[in-house]
Amino acid sequence: MKTSSPAARQRKPAAKTQARPNAPAGPAESTPSSEPSDVVETVDASAAAPVALIDAVVDGPSFAELGLAAPIVQAVAAAGYRAPTPIQRDAIPLAMSGRDVMGLAQTGTGKTAAFTLPIIHRLLGGEKRLRCLILTPTRELCQQVDESFRKYGQFTDVEVAPIYGGVAYEPQEKALQKGVDVIVATPGRFIDHMEKRNASLDALEILVLDEADRMLDMGFAPQISRIVGGISPYRQTLLFSATMPPEVEALARKYLRRPVVVQVGRRSSAASTVRHAVYPVPRGRKNDLLVELLRRPEMDSVLVFTRTKHGADHVVRDLHTAGVEATAMHADKTQAQRTQAIERFKSGDIRVLVATDIAQRGLDISGISHVINYDVPAQAEDYVHRIGRTGRAASTGDAFTFMSPDEIAMVRTIERVLGQPIERISIPGFDFGTVAATT
Ligand code: AMP
Repeated sequence: MKTSSPAARQRKPAAKTQARPNAPAGPAESTPSSEPSDVVETVDASAAAPVALIDAVVDGPSFAELGLAAPIVQAVAAAGYRAPTPIQRDAIPLAMSGRDVMGLAQTGTGKTAAFTLPIIHRLLGGEKRLRCLILTPTRELCQQVDESFRKYGQFTDVEVAPIYGGVAYEPQEKALQKGVDVIVATPGRFIDHMEKRNASLDALEILVLDEADRMLDMGFAPQISRIVGGISPYRQTLLFSATMPPEVEALARKYLRRPVVVQVGRRSSAASTVRHAVYPVPRGRKNDLLVELLRRPEMDSVLVFTRTKHGADHVVRDLHTAGVEATAMHADKTQAQRTQAIERFKSGDIRVLVATDIAQRGLDISGISHVINYDVPAQAEDYVHRIGRTGRAASTGDAFTFMSPDEIAMVRTIERVLGQPIERISIPGFDFGTVAATT
């Protein structure tokens, strides 16, 4: 096996395929070959050069040059995409060639199209039976991937059904009985349908594990194992994950055959279009600071994150008291309430959405102007995902983090993971330094 040092890797042209010493190997039970995985690094991984994760590769190949069928090229043009993003440029040809792909990319990089487009290409003109299953951690991501599939497949006859919990079974059963090519599902509800024999995995050719790290975080490993156990080992498997903890590497070793690893940017790099800032503030004054910041005219679409459901409700109540309309979105809300909250936020009907981490992924709301971390996220990686809500696909956004004295250590950890310090903004009267000095 060839190995390469990080320095050697940086000197090599982008998109060059190379072996990585710790890349996951194929599954022992289904792949006799001892060939290593390949790694495609799409951008410079050095900390000194901030990476542009979202930018399309304007001097790279076009969607048509990637070999995608005409109706798909037509759909991406209709979506307004001028050129593939780095993950699309690298993952699409590999997926079209039938290889298993492990995409290390956070949301906002164009990863959904990176797997959706080659899947539609492969399914074109085939028999109508369930040929592709996409597993997602949350209902919101499930709805969003389903929407993407419809958008990119609008000029084809490929049919997709979203399957997630918290809503009635019957419409889903009807959709499945009618026959679809693709199911996008959360694991629990899909198993319910498997048990009721509403869905058969017999003809399945492609499995996608989207946001695999999140699925494991949410405890879906047993459900994934159960579902994959029912699928032919001769399938193609595509796994996408924002991070690569050992659990995800193990998952990839178990379910992927000689995968090619496609990596966009440093594992924990934050979207480069986002401007970050930390506001030191005593815990008891966070709400006043929030109201103060929301007075600014540029704050026109703000996603506020709290650590707990109770905290989210509390912030919404306090904002109402201060005359600011806001709505909460968390796991205690019904699916209808969550969908309505997103719709109202997307349409601009309300400008402040207060959410827990359940909402941090999978939300694709273009035009979010600001993300505010009302609480510092407990995991450094969550910071990257939360701020990934803004700065999506070439727009810019600001990400502000409220830091009380007990959260200083957590902010330092995040800065270490990001590999860069985050600017501090002190607002007189709010900064605990000045508050402490004057009281
Ligand atoms: P994702 O990383 O899949 O969540 O995609 C993030 C956003 O990028 C979505 O709003 C997509 O519509 C958009 N997007 C995906 N591919 C492209 C592209 N090639 N050019 C411009 N925008 C894109």
